[in-house]
Formats: sequence, structure tokens, C-alpha cells
Amino acid sequence: GHKTRLDRYISQQTTLSKSQVRMLVAQRKIWVDDQIAQSVQQTVDEFCEVRVEGQILAKKTPDYWMLYKPVGVLSATQDAKHPVAVDCLRALSVVQRQDLHLVGRLDLHSSGLLLLTNDGRWSQAMIAPHNKMPKVYQVVVQNPLTEQMVQGFNEGVFLTYEQVTTRPAKLKILAPNLAEVTLWEGRFHQIKRMFKRLGNRVMALHRVQIGPVKLDASLLPGQSRRLTPPEVQALS
Ligand code: URA
Repeated sequence: GHKTRLDRYISQQTTLSKSQVRMLVAQRKIWVDDQIAQSVQQTVDEFCEVRVEGQILAKKTPDYWMLYKPVGVLSATQDAKHPVAVDCLRALSVVQRQDLHLVGRLDLHSSGLLLLTNDGRWSQAMIAPHNKMPKVYQVVVQNPLTEQMVQGFNEGVFLTYEQVTTRPAKLKILAPNLAEVTLWEGRFHQIKRMFKRLGNRVMALHRVQIGPVKLDASLLPGQSRRLTPPEVQALS
């Protein structure tokens, strides 16, 4: 998803110089996504279809996945010790998997909805601090849930390491030891640290939803599927 000037992009992918690209643009022999290129200054990315005198340059297909991350799988693309999330995508070749990165993370011992893509622009927007996409978790805790904990999540908890108070979060009591937590941000071990500060302890944590997209109920732990175009759109 990285934008590059057209002349730079073509000269990197071919033996053409930037001035040769300028000539070809003037001669209307360069096309970008089915339109004649207007200027060498216009920007393209690796997902654009760029044609030079009819020949298509290498073009990547954007790819978007949801994974049911199992407990014990690391939110990473490579690790010496633990199995990693991208390796769960069995339908893809090793080369295709190498192209993917994670959109956010879940702790090693957490499970649930994890998104992966090869589209850096899309994922940057998703994880940007101003992106207020809610994330919903089911959380099993050691001690019975109280109104005080609900209030604590709503008012925010001061995190000493970051010296910040967490944004208002929603804690819904589903059963004495089972909560649904909604966060509008994602700090390191946030839910675990919040419960700890409120005198409780997380025993299990499972992400069920990111923004409008729910973890597909037909997926088993370790299974994945491509996001549908409407899902990709809804998350953009
Ligand atoms: N909060 C946590 O503590 N862990 C997660 O994996 C996600 C949110």
C-alpha cells in the first residue's frame, strides 16, 4: 500500500529511465488502472495495474483474511519458539503467507478474531490511534464481577507505565465470572492490566468482533477465511 511516483515506480520495475517514462507518458503509451497516465508525478502503489506499451508490470492483489487465532499461537509472522498466526493460513503458499502482516495483535494466551492482509495502507488506517473501531472480547475472570468493576472500565484505569488513563470502556456482566468487554483502543495487555487494577484476574480472553466484523461462527480455532469485499469496505 505504499504510494510511489509513476516515473519512479516504472524505472524501478523496468530498464526504462525516468526521462524515457516521461516520453512515454507524453505519447500516451502508459496506462494506470485502465486510464491513460496524465503525469509522471501521479502516484501508484503495488496494487495498481500499470501498463507500458501494452505490457502489464507486476501487480499485487490485495488480500484480506480473518483468522480464529487459537490459544498458544503467537501474533507474529515468524518466531523460533511458538507457532505463528500466518502459518495457520494453510490455503496459501509460503510465498503468499510471507507477504501478509497482522492488523493488530492478540496475546499468546488469548484467542479469537485476528485480521491479516498484504495491504499496508488498509492496515495502517485500521491501527491508527484516531481509528475508534470498537473491539469486543469475551473474558472469563477469577473473581465474581462487580458494579465497581463496571464503573472502573467506564471511568478508565490509570496505567502507570504509559502514564495515561484508559478511554471509557464497556464492561457487561454476562455471568458471575463472564464479561463482555468493549475497547476503543488497544494497549499492551490492556484488559488483563485493567482487571488486575480492579482486583480481578483474567483467566481467558477471546476476541469476537472488530468494528462491524464478527468472528465467523463456522470457524474452528486455527481456521481462517478471506474477508468478503463488504467486510473489507466496512473496516476501511
Ligand atoms: N487485552 C489483553 O489483555 N490481551 C489481549 O490479547 C487483548 C486485549
